[in-house]
Amino acid sequence: MPDNAAGQTDVVIVGAGPVGLTLAVDLGRRGVRCTLIEQKSAPEFLPKMERCNARTMEIYRRMGLAEKIRAAGLQADVPMDVYIVLAMNEPPLLRLPYPSVSDSRAQIAASHDGSMPLEPYQLISQYTLEPLLKAEAEALPGVSVRYGCEFLSLSQDAAGATATVRDAGGEAHEITARYIVGCDGGSSTVRKQIGIQLRGEGNLLRLHQALYYCPTLYERLPIGDGPGHGRHYHVADNQATFLIMQDSTRHWTLHAVVDRPDDMAAQFERTIGVPIDYQMLYVGAWKQNLLLADRYRAGRVFLAGDSAHLVIPTGGLGMNTGVGDAIDLSWKLQATLQGWGGPHLLESYEIERRQVGDRNVGASRYASLGRRKWRAAYRPDIREATPAGQATRDRLSQTANVEQRKTNEMIGAELGYRYVGSPIVVDEPGGPEHLFREYVPTTWPGARLPHVWLEDGTALHDRIGDGYTLLRLGRTSADTSCLERAMRATGAPFAALTIDDEAPRQVYGYDLLLLRPDLHVVWRGNEVGDAQALAALALGR
Ligand SMILES: Cc1cc2nc3c(=O)[nH]c(=O)nc-3n(C[C@H](O)[C@H](O)[C@H](O)COP(=O)(O)OP(=O)(O)OC[C@H]3O[C@@H](n4cnc5c(N)ncnc54)[C@H](O)[C@@H]3O)c2cc1C
Repeated sequence: MPDNAAGQTDVVIVGAGPVGLTLAVDLGRRGVRCTLIEQKSAPEFLPKMERCNARTMEIYRRMGLAEKIRAAGLQADVPMDVYIVLAMNEPPLLRLPYPSVSDSRAQIAASHDGSMPLEPYQLISQYTLEPLLKAEAEALPGVSVRYGCEFLSLSQDAAGATATVRDAGGEAHEITARYIVGCDGGSSTVRKQIGIQLRGEGNLLRLHQALYYCPTLYERLPIGDGPGHGRHYHVADNQATFLIMQDSTRHWTLHAVVDRPDDMAAQFERTIGVPIDYQMLYVGAWKQNLLLADRYRAGRVFLAGDSAHLVIPTGGLGMNTGVGDAIDLSWKLQATLQGWGGPHLLESYEIERRQVGDRNVGASRYASLGRRKWRAAYRPDIREATPAGQATRDRLSQTANVEQRKTNEMIGAELGYRYVGSPIVVDEPGGPEHLFREYVPTTWPGARLPHVWLEDGTALHDRIGDGYTLLRLGRTSADTSCLERAMRATGAPFAALTIDDEAPRQVYGYDLLLLRPDLHVVWRGNEVGDAQALAALALGR
């Protein structure tokens, strides 16, 4: 049991959504004791996110989870096409084709210029992902997972932090730890306890969301001249209606602006357009927000995931940004608790991740404005068999052909984020522009190391361990012994890796790269300068 009889552990994680669960698993595999508390008595079968993006899948690959997640998620051969429709039994107004996981894999296998991720995205519903991550966390010896346990309040001092929690029996008790991480979602109690505000645009639109069990819809597609298999079906109406296939292909969700929850049954039937057997399993309301926390840290308490940033799901940057937070914080907590990390490591968490949160709120705004723009082309005559009706359909589909892509083509935001001004990254002034839509591979300090295949068909990412790595490329003769000695003397996990293949040297542009445990670049060059200073900077000392 990681939190002993006196209720002590190293890290308390509040909230077992995908972000808290990912953090618990990564801390556990790094040998850090943690206690994850969740107010729900068990994971719920409620719809929310359904797409792990390519970067999240790269992260899960490093955690040894990618194949398990794919096995539990949508089968690999289903296209991820997005359609604009009037109804599912009518010819689509627009089809935006996107590759299945199998097709993406083939594209990735053929790409050698660093421009593609190592892993394609994966469609997996949040209600499938959470139990999977929960089982992983529970299997780790250092991790205690407690459902039915509500976080109430916290206190902290120089030595540690204490969480007051209420268990299922209604009794309040304390858990003391060195750090607390609030992964408790948009209405985070942890955030309120440490007095941090969310700022931005709240309550932009209120929609209803419903979950349906509809076992035959997927097999029946296309219905007549209607759209084929795909992932999202946006209905060209004035209610922002939007149908999403879930990972089993037998469950579907629909979002729409309706007056009453019950209206979601008729809305589903109207969208499908033909009689079909289904059960409506759940209806709830949710609001669109574009909000960012002023700070991500107060002393020993950190925020990660939706507690720190709320985006419109357009663009799929909600959970995926949160997984990035978890993975940035995890190794820094490990380093600090195990004594090899200096104070700038934890300091860098807010600096690095808040700028990504800020950019991703911007990316989400950009995508949702695009969606609003094509929806504004709707006119009540859209179904009419008249020249005016045809003109409305043409205008809407032409606008959507430009504007809807902003939601579905976010590879720059997903892979291209780079930590600017971080105290644990060597400062190279300038740096490439941050692009939402386009990913241009770079090893600029602070960036994620681009994926490159080696001559033996393996991925360079897979050769890099969980600690710091010095990459020696291009058959360099540079003397790196002083840097290797300096890194080893810190007590941090460290390896020097020599790769003679030409591809990495070509893509990365330098002979030497010092990488952090999360695959971001600390430094690049052809000769080592002040090795002691570089090691100290990398370790946040
Ligand atoms: C319709 C919809 C579609 C979406 N699609 C996508 C998508 O495709 N891709 C994507 O990346 N994101 C998507 N998102 C966003 C995504 O669902 C969220 O970003 C994600 O759930 C955030 O994860 P989290 O772990 O930070 O918070 P949450 O999932 O909100 O989890 C927080 C957890 O904390 C618990 N908790 C709260 N308070 C307490 C307390 N006091 N004590 C103990 N436990 C507590 C809650 O019960 C909950 O389990 C979508 C969201 C919606 C609404």
